Amino acid sequence: MKKVDVVIIGAGPSGSVAAARLLQDDLSVLIIEKLEFPRFVIGESLLPQCMDFLEKVDLLDCIVKKNFQVKNGVSFYHEDKICDFLFNDNFSGGWDYTYQVKRADFDHALIKEVEKKGAIVHFNAEVTDVKTSAAEQVVTYIDSEEQEQIVACRFVMDASGYGRVLPRLFNLNTPATSIPRGAIFSHVKDDKRTEKAGANIFVNAFNNNTAWIWSIPFSDGTASVGVVGENAFVSSISENDGAEFKKLVQTFPGLNDRYRETDFLFEPKTILGYSIAVKQLHGEGFVLCGNSTEFLDPIFSSGVMFALKTGYSAADLVAKQLAGDSVDWTTDYDEVVLHGVEVFRSYVEAWYSGDLHTIFFVKGGSPEFKKQICSVLAGYVWDMSNPFVKKHKTVLGTLAKVINMER
Ligand SMILES: Cc1cc2nc3c(=O)[nH]c(=O)nc-3n(C[C@H](O)[C@H](O)[C@H](O)COP(=O)(O)OP(=O)(O)OC[C@H]3O[C@@H](n4cnc5c(N)ncnc54)[C@H](O)[C@@H]3O)c2cc1C
Repeated sequence: MKKVDVVIIGAGPSGSVAAARLLQDDLSVLIIEKLEFPRFVIGESLLPQCMDFLEKVDLLDCIVKKNFQVKNGVSFYHEDKICDFLFNDNFSGGWDYTYQVKRADFDHALIKEVEKKGAIVHFNAEVTDVKTSAAEQVVTYIDSEEQEQIVACRFVMDASGYGRVLPRLFNLNTPATSIPRGAIFSHVKDDKRTEKAGANIFVNAFNNNTAWIWSIPFSDGTASVGVVGENAFVSSISENDGAEFKKLVQTFPGLNDRYRETDFLFEPKTILGYSIAVKQLHGEGFVLCGNSTEFLDPIFSSGVMFALKTGYSAADLVAKQLAGDSVDWTTDYDEVVLHGVEVFRSYVEAWYSGDLHTIFFVKGGSPEFKKQICSVLAGYVWDMSNPFVKKHKTVLGTLAKVINMER
């Protein structure tokens, strides 16, 4: 039987960053990826905190060379109101920009670099079974020639994203507690954008705050557009190849006719009920990373940042354990990851409850509070010196209440 130190399931950003961290400790890494790359996946607007993790594992240069669209901030719109967050005004003082990327290109650049660094990557190969034990882990997969293969390893990292390989095999999935929502999206030509519109993701709530639309410009003159809402609403605008969705995008008032003449570059894609949670994040000989853990909601573009954070942190602990050090997975991994998830959960809930609208669109709001919220929106959700991180459970509701009382 073939043997390696670590098998990683999935070659998305979580798998790539995990592999790059393991290679820093000279561990042998096999990545098994179901699809051929480049491949489409949604999740195109990054957060500045992503840059920290890419830099730590020497994967930033290969991304900088791709000339992706620089993202300086995020602009929230509602009717005639605008609230801009610019990352150079963030409380945590981290990176003040990041990128908007076509994930096919971004993920491909990362995995190619990881291959160059020494990881073995099998594309078109699907993991079908995993057996874990104290002694060794055994991974079964169907290779690109449709032959069943078995590989043994000391640790398995599940970075299979929406594939959720180990949560499915080990019965770890649990339903999310939020209202089931979905999204419909496509790419468009975007030659009427302003400079600001290029550098900031555009987010606009509508339908009484139950739905929102995004526009994410790319450096090649195209943009991603999508609508998120409750499943029934998304299904209704997905009918007839997304005819209603197309109309909505082409005439959406906040987009100022930017896409009126534009057709879609591919038929709109729909994903329903993507939010999901897990019972546990690690077990004997395995750990879950990225979207295999919990996925909340796309509203604050936190998915890739979590994929990178969890890939990096989990691989760091795997490297320690395989070097013979003892690792407290509950304290050093689960609690850290869940803290970040819980911070974003508070913001997602406050978005849909309307509290964040009250805070974002109030006239003469506190510049200090804005800086602190900006840090969260930049992904710095582990900065406990930020009161909008530390007191995330109460601060948004309290602030919204005070603003409403003063009106
Ligand atoms: C509507 C919507 C919009 C979003 N927008 C954003 C955004 O703007 N910004 C953002 O940061 N995030 C966004 N996200 C979240 C983002 O899509 C994910 O968080 C991110 O892609 C997770 O990365 P990953 O590395 O965990 O998994 P992925 O990038 O999904 O990679 C997992 C890989 O595993 C492979 N795989 C699956 N099953 C198997 C198997 N059995 N064997 C081998 N390989 C397998 C897959 O082929 C895939 O290539 C959005 C999500 C949704 C639903």
